[in-house]
Amino acid sequence: MIPFADLHCHSTYSDGTATPAEIVDLAVSLHLKAVSLTDHDSTLGLEELYKAAKAKGLEMISGVEFSCHVDQESVHLLGYGFDPDAPSIKKLQEKHLLRRSTRNEEIFKKLHRLGIKVDPSEITAQGIIGRPHIAELLVKHKIVGSMQEAFKKYLGEGKLAYVPAYTITVNETIDVIHAAGGVAILAHPHLIDSIPLLNKLLQSPFDGIECYYSNFTPEENARWVKRAQRRNWLETGGSDYHGLNKPYVKYGCTTVDEEHFRKLQNACR
Ligand code: AMP
Ligand code: FE
Ligand code: FE
Ligand code: ZN
Repeated sequence: MIPFADLHCHSTYSDGTATPAEIVDLAVSLHLKAVSLTDHDSTLGLEELYKAAKAKGLEMISGVEFSCHVDQESVHLLGYGFDPDAPSIKKLQEKHLLRRSTRNEEIFKKLHRLGIKVDPSEITAQGIIGRPHIAELLVKHKIVGSMQEAFKKYLGEGKLAYVPAYTITVNETIDVIHAAGGVAILAHPHLIDSIPLLNKLLQSPFDGIECYYSNFTPEENARWVKRAQRRNWLETGGSDYHGLNKPYVKYGCTTVDEEHFRKLQNACR
């Protein structure tokens, strides 16, 4: 397989530390031929990505990673090849901005009640703000030694300052992406540990599965490829690069070849 594109990564427009232009530079340095960007609940970085990709002669496909839920379980859904200016996409982004600002306020309230007086105005991110930004703040103020510890002690599910995310459903999110001409892919499916839930998701109107992911072994890839092929679904793949926020994940450590990329492209309107 000749690596063509890493289809899953995060920039400074969500919880990554590389700008979209820096991601394009990374792709060039690895001799990849196309890029995408899948920031959490935001397409704001796509314009910068598009400009940088064009300047460097790389192809680009639009991308996003929407947070959603089914039966109170959190699920991540990747969208590709949609029109970022479509009203359905714009509306969903607004919804996520609103629910995140309410949730972040609640997280800070919980932290304050625990005697941790960190100030939300210190977060100066240019895009979506989520738990990783709060984790960074806790590291900066030496409340914890690492992002991991921030999640383990305070921000992870069920921990001291945890606040559940009230997102929208998987099916509604799939509809939004379809309405914008794109395809909906089940992200990092191995993170779903309930078998009934996984089966339910595999019966939802997805267009594909993220079969190749970060540190997957060939056996793990094959497991998901089999499931995708059985449904005649697309197979996508990527690193889930977050820059320095997940230093153990390198950009381009997982990629797809040109054939997979073209199939993805051709499935979009
Ligand atoms: P949010 O969307 O605000 O709920 O934050 C979720 C994001 O936090 C995920 O996409 C990861 O990037 C990050 N995250 C979740 N758990 C951890 C962890 N244990 N360590 C570091 N980052 C994490
Ligand atoms: Fe993330
Ligand atoms: Fe994810
Ligand atoms: Zn991701």
